[in-house]
Amino acid sequence: MQAKKKDIRALTKEQLRDFFVGNGDKAFRGNQVYEWLWSKGAHSFEDMTNVSKETRQMLQDNFVINHIKVDQMQRSSDGTIKNAVRLHDDLIVESVLIPTATRTTACVSSQVGCSLDCKFCATARLKRMRNLNPDEIYDQVVVIDNESRLYHGRPLSNIVFMGMGEPLMNYNNVLKAIEKITSPEGLGMSPRRIVVSTSGVPKMIKKLADDEVKFKLAVSLHSAIDEVRSTIMPFNEHFPLTDLREALEYWYAKTRRPITYEYVVWKDINDKRKDVDALVRFCKFAPSKVNLIEYNPIDDGEFQQASNEAIDMYTDILERNGITVTVRRSRGKDIDAACGQLANKK
Ligand code: SAH
Repeated sequence: MQAKKKDIRALTKEQLRDFFVGNGDKAFRGNQVYEWLWSKGAHSFEDMTNVSKETRQMLQDNFVINHIKVDQMQRSSDGTIKNAVRLHDDLIVESVLIPTATRTTACVSSQVGCSLDCKFCATARLKRMRNLNPDEIYDQVVVIDNESRLYHGRPLSNIVFMGMGEPLMNYNNVLKAIEKITSPEGLGMSPRRIVVSTSGVPKMIKKLADDEVKFKLAVSLHSAIDEVRSTIMPFNEHFPLTDLREALEYWYAKTRRPITYEYVVWKDINDKRKDVDALVRFCKFAPSKVNLIEYNPIDDGEFQQASNEAIDMYTDILERNGITVTVRRSRGKDIDAACGQLANKK
């Protein structure tokens, strides 16, 4: 039986050049094929028209090009698009295009399912099946860029890693994907337009700082009180707030870039004065701003969006303490495309 063919896009440019040299061809051929695979987005070896027929056949005999396929696309009344994409092993992940007046943002997944157990998130109910490969992450961005051009007449402007999965638990592949997205040989996007959102894995946040990444960091905080955070995000038991705080101070010391805290205010969970005061204290450890996100219900009412008075209390007190705060409305709720709603419902 023939050995399973390798995904050619798992090779680096160097490895591809070496492959050609090893087969008695020129290293330059590796550059050509690399360009077809990444900046030109070829879906088959047949597409590579400046490569000889024999070489294309030889590639065909040795490799596959595993492209994601859009299995289902849904469009919301507010212009949001949700793609259910099928991977080469038939697993499905979701990614979302979010248009506003001035930008189009892609919200991409980093894992199939999620290894964390946030009580308020629909993705947490799916078992983590596997990490996505760099090309599977990259392809989600390409698909959304094309949809943005087609439906909104402009290219994609921003990317957020806020789809399914915990990006820092698939660290290497997420960084490799971002390298491709930002490279002139890929999409040439500025890293400043990319946000990686994490539920807060201290060791990995420090690693981001050590690796001198240029994208932005967001942390899903939701509470600055350990007992509360551990109830709604049980992994907080293993990564308590003192460790998270220390990692964020380290991030700021090294990168000089502020952190965004994502925060949902829920009725009777974190809607009291003591919760706001704890958040204000936490925000002072490293320069930061707060995004208050609207809760998107996923269940039978265990979690409920806090009252407008509670949200106003948060914004007032944060602002009085000189902390920038924005209140974010949900997008794409009618198609289950909003934060925390990605659960492969069909
Ligand atoms: N694992 C990463 C990225 C995925 S979640 C992280 O935790 O940051 C993307 C954002 O949606 C996070 O801020 C998360 O806390 C939030 N979220 C999850 N479920 C939600 C829900 N039901 N309503 C609103 N936001 C939710």
